[in-house]
Order: sequence, then C-alpha cells, then structure tokens
Amino acid sequence: MTVPFVQKALHIDLETGDHDIEHISASEGVIGPVDFGWREFKKDKNVFTFGEGKLASSTIPGSRRLVFCAYSDQWEGFYISSMGGAAHKFQHVGVSYVSLRGRAERPSVLLLNNRGEAPEARIIPLEDYRNIWAGYENEAGEKLIGIYAMQQALLDLFGGEYDPNRVRIATVGPSAEMTVEGVIGSNTIKKGVMQAVVDWAGRGGLGSRLFRHHNILAIMFGGEWKDAFAPKTKELNHYFEEHYGDKMTKVDMAMTKKYHYDPKLETGGTFGANYTNLKDKILTFNYRSAKRTKTERIRQHTDFIVKHYLKQFNEETIKPKRFDHCGEPCSVACKKLFGKYKKDYEPYHALGPQCGVFDQRAAELLNDHADAMGFDAIQIGGTLAWIMECVADGLMDPDKYGFPPASELKFSHFTDDVAEFDLVEDSMRNARYAMKVIDAILSDSRAEIFRDGLRAAAENINSSACFNRAVYLAHGEKGCMVPNQYWVPGMGSPMPLMGKYYVYYGSDYMPPDDLGRKNVERMVHELINDNCGECRFHRGWSEALLPVIMNDRFGLNIDFKAHHFNLAREINEYQSDTSQPWATRRMAEMLEGYLTYIAKPPTSTEEQAKYPVVDPEDPVGSARAFWRAIKEGQERAFRAGPDAISRTLTPRQQKERFAGGE
Ligand code: SF4
Repeated sequence: MTVPFVQKALHIDLETGDHDIEHISASEGVIGPVDFGWREFKKDKNVFTFGEGKLASSTIPGSRRLVFCAYSDQWEGFYISSMGGAAHKFQHVGVSYVSLRGRAERPSVLLLNNRGEAPEARIIPLEDYRNIWAGYENEAGEKLIGIYAMQQALLDLFGGEYDPNRVRIATVGPSAEMTVEGVIGSNTIKKGVMQAVVDWAGRGGLGSRLFRHHNILAIMFGGEWKDAFAPKTKELNHYFEEHYGDKMTKVDMAMTKKYHYDPKLETGGTFGANYTNLKDKILTFNYRSAKRTKTERIRQHTDFIVKHYLKQFNEETIKPKRFDHCGEPCSVACKKLFGKYKKDYEPYHALGPQCGVFDQRAAELLNDHADAMGFDAIQIGGTLAWIMECVADGLMDPDKYGFPPASELKFSHFTDDVAEFDLVEDSMRNARYAMKVIDAILSDSRAEIFRDGLRAAAENINSSACFNRAVYLAHGEKGCMVPNQYWVPGMGSPMPLMGKYYVYYGSDYMPPDDLGRKNVERMVHELINDNCGECRFHRGWSEALLPVIMNDRFGLNIDFKAHHFNLAREINEYQSDTSQPWATRRMAEMLEGYLTYIAKPPTSTEEQAKYPVVDPEDPVGSARAFWRAIKEGQERAFRAGPDAISRTLTPRQQKERFAGGE
C-alpha cells in the first residue's frame, strides 16, 4: 500500500519563541533529517536541526534514531550526530524535523509536546542549572550529577505534562559550557523513570554548540501524536521475505549477531566482539602499543584483556544476559549492562586501556564520570591519555595545570607484564587520576588551555615532545577529532566528517588511492542510513533494503545512491579544503606500526610498487604523503560521480557479504 509522504518541519526562533510549521515535499530534495539539516545549514550556518527518518513510526528495527545536524565548533565544519532510539518518543511530537535559530535570552530548556491539537514549543529559562549539575537527588535519595541530574530535575519539573511512556530528554552537561567537546545525552525512560541505558549524539561536540551558541541546556520531547499510516511488522515482512527469504526479525537477528550475541565468540556487543577479535591490533597507554612488537601486544591482549577486562565483562554481563535496547524495541538489544553501567567498546577503550585502565570497576568509575560531565568519551579519552603520558614522562608540569602529581599515576611506559602492573589497583589509580584531570579541565582556570581540545593544547603548550605524542585529526584552524579506536589508516582519513564511520575501516591493507575511493563509497552508504534515521548496526540489510522500502511505501522514485552521493559531494565541497594532514610523530608511528605488523606485506612487484614505505629520517613526511594520497583518491572518486563507486549491493549480495554480521 502506498501512503502519503508527509514531512513537517517545526522552525523555532529561540529569541522570540515564535515557531511555525513548514510542509516539505520530496521533490524539494529532502527525504530525511540529514537532507533537512544540510538544506537549512546552506541557508544559515548558525542553524541547529534535529529530526527523524520517515520510517520512525514503523516497527523496522533501528529506524528510530534522532539525527542532529549543525556547525561543529570542535570539528570546524558541518557535522551530523545521531542518538539511538530517541525518535521512538520524538515521533509523538508530530513533526519530522525541528530547526533552531538564534539564541535564547537566558540558559533555557526547550519543551516540545503535542497534546493532540498541534506541536507545541516552549522555551523555559533555568537559571540554577549549575546547581542541578552539581547534585540533584532522585526519589530514592540517590545523588545524581551532570546530565543525569539535569534529566531527573526536568522529569520532576515537567514530567507531569507528558505521557510517562512517551517522553525523553536530550541534555548537555558541564563540558558543553566549558569546552567545545560536549555531547548531547539521553537516558531511556520507562513509566516516567530514568533507566540505565543512555544514548549519545556523541561526536562532534554538538552539545557544546547547542548550549554555547543557542543557550539551550536540554530538549524535552514527547506527546500524543500518532502516525495513522505507521506500518506494522506484517506489512513489512514481505520486503524481507522477497529479498532475504525470511521474516524481518529473523533477517535482522541473523545479520546483527556481533551486536547481540555471537555463539562462535561466546560474547556480544561492541565490547565483547571487538575485544575478542583485537589481538595484536590493540592500542593502549596513549597508542604507545603501536611501537611495540606484535608478540608484546598479543601478550598484553591475552593477559590484560582476555584474562581480565573481557573476562569480567563476559561473566558479569554476557552470561547473565544483561542486555537492553536503546529505547526503541529492537531485538538486537546491543546495550550491555552491569548495574547502571552500559558498556561499549569505544568509550571503554578510550577511557580504558588507552588511559592505562584494564579493570571494569575502574573503567566504570571513569566512564561514568566523563559521561555525567557530558564529555564525548572518545575525545576526552584521547586527551586524558595524552596528558597522562606527558605528565608521567615529566614533559608536562602537572602542578601548573592543577593536575595531581605524577606519583599518583602508573603510566610511565607500555607494559605487557602483569607482574609490574596490578590490573586492579593500578587501573584504579589511573582512573582516579584521569577523573581529577577531568575536574581540573572543567573547574580550574589553570587548565584552561585544555578546554579548546587536544589539538589546540598540543599546538600551544610549547613543547615539541608533548606535541609529538598527540593523536588527533585536524580540520580548519583548531578543529580536532580523536580518531575512532580502530588501528587502521581509514580512521585517520581526510574525509569531510571524521569521528564517524564515513570511512572504510577494515584492517586489510588497501593502497591509499583505493582507500580514498572506498571511503567515499562508505560515506554514501552510511548517509543512506543516517538520512533514514536508521541505526548502522543493521547495515547488513538496511543499506540495500531501505531504499526499496522507502520508494515502494511512499510511491517515490529516488535513486538513493545518486541522491546520497550528491549530498556527500556537496558536504565535501563545502569543507574538504580545510582538512589538515597528520602532524605528529605518534600519528606517523601508528602508520608505521600498521604497515609493519597489521597490513599484509605485498606479494608481487606490482603491489610492492604501490606499497608505502616510511622514511626513518622523516616519518611524519611519509605519513603526510600517505594522507595526501588517500585524499587524492577521495577527490577523484567525488569528481567521478556515483557510478565510479561500487554499485549499491542488491539485498542478495548484501546478505552474502554480511552473513553472520560484519
Ligand atoms: S542495535 Fe542497539 S542501538 Fe541499534 S536500534 Fe538496536 S538496540 Fe538500538
């Protein structure tokens, strides 16, 4: 059955509180929240948008992400960041998209509701937000801080206005006020009670943008509106049966094993699957592992991770099946919990082994503190690991910045020996040190230099030894991104938006020119998911099947690959010139280590000719040449057009490629 393709946008002027609704047709080139965000951004660089995909009211697993778009002060460019499950509640506001312009007069909360008549928007000042962040008690007498405190306070203040099962709060924390790296976080809410699962629009510092630029601390949303055409599973099964030979849930579960539970690995979730598979690709102690031998890294992986950090996780979380979903009913239930702590690989790695933390109790404390303060865990993890190495090596005077003395750290060198590193005590020592550094960055003026991010600090600290130990991707004058925690050149690529998965990040070696083309291909397909509000964990089927469902259900005739290629190309044209090559010695060491140990050496003369060699006299120069070659491959692919990147896989090809979950 074909149903109307209705897109409503709520445009809000934060200065006056005025708002109006716009109806947008697909013929205007907008079919999802990224199109909308990009269209508004092209009109006005100061706009902030968020919205859902057109299938958010369906039962399609993963279709209910809330997608935020805005200029990122952290990245110095247009950025896209999405939050799991939040559109499951946002859909009840009764609009697809929201745009925010201007700045609220005072720090405020934006309330979006729909009590059956029409979407409502109110801007409520909240002057004592700092007191709330500092501590707020819930009904059980538990003292909450930061983003958790803010959500509870808003639930207590305004929860009565919403259906307790159709409300959610997206909020920022103290890091959004003090740094450019603040996230937007949101816990799931059941029957009016905040749950342990917290989802993030985590990368790009859009929480800082929301607060520092628009004076908005939180957005509370929900309502009564229901989509009269919401497709049920029965109406959707035939797409999956036709293209994958089975019902929707079965196809989905077969292609998402890694995220739920993989019987072969006897674990699940990103934490379980990635840590099982990492082996010699492990990055620890501020990437110092990259310079060590394969044998040392494997020993560290075995003794520090498999026998302790991962073992704890498997026993405490996987065996008792402490799984939950992100807020939308999705059987994958990729959220792996232990008490109030949700465990994912990247945050628990950046704020784990990278910071010399290999024990769950220590990692829980550190991650929870960074989360409560509203930091992007990967970004702050990379910054803390760098600071800790510089302090431990005597390159940075901790006293000068309000940090504890080096004697409180166990971080002076890489170790793979449990006899010299107590996995429980030394991990806790490092975690506590890192938490004190977080507090100093937020509240001690001596640590101000770190508030503009790792790159700005590394460039301005006046120490080439410190600078050369920093790992970041640079964009624009000060823009900075700590790379995602996979030791592959793809994660250091010069794509227009880094910190996401708009890159090829397989560990197999690819000549830089091919890697560049593959990055463009991945950006196009990841954009299909983002623009449909779809969770990328379902990409095994979603990249190929969502275009079929969208076109068929809404009577559209859109070439999804061409549409999203053009979107990617426009974004690239806007901000590719501002990408900056790798600059530090540690970045060069990462490439050298990858080529030496991870990449398969060439087996033919032809391959040899294309294989980069790192010049020991000028490793940074070699690394920059490699970076430029990736960029040339990307630009060539963007110029060549959508047909030059691989065809969108048919559902059948997709099934073969992703069988068992990627
Ligand atoms: S896979 Fe996880 S994040 Fe994605 S929709 Fe399912 S529960 Fe949510």
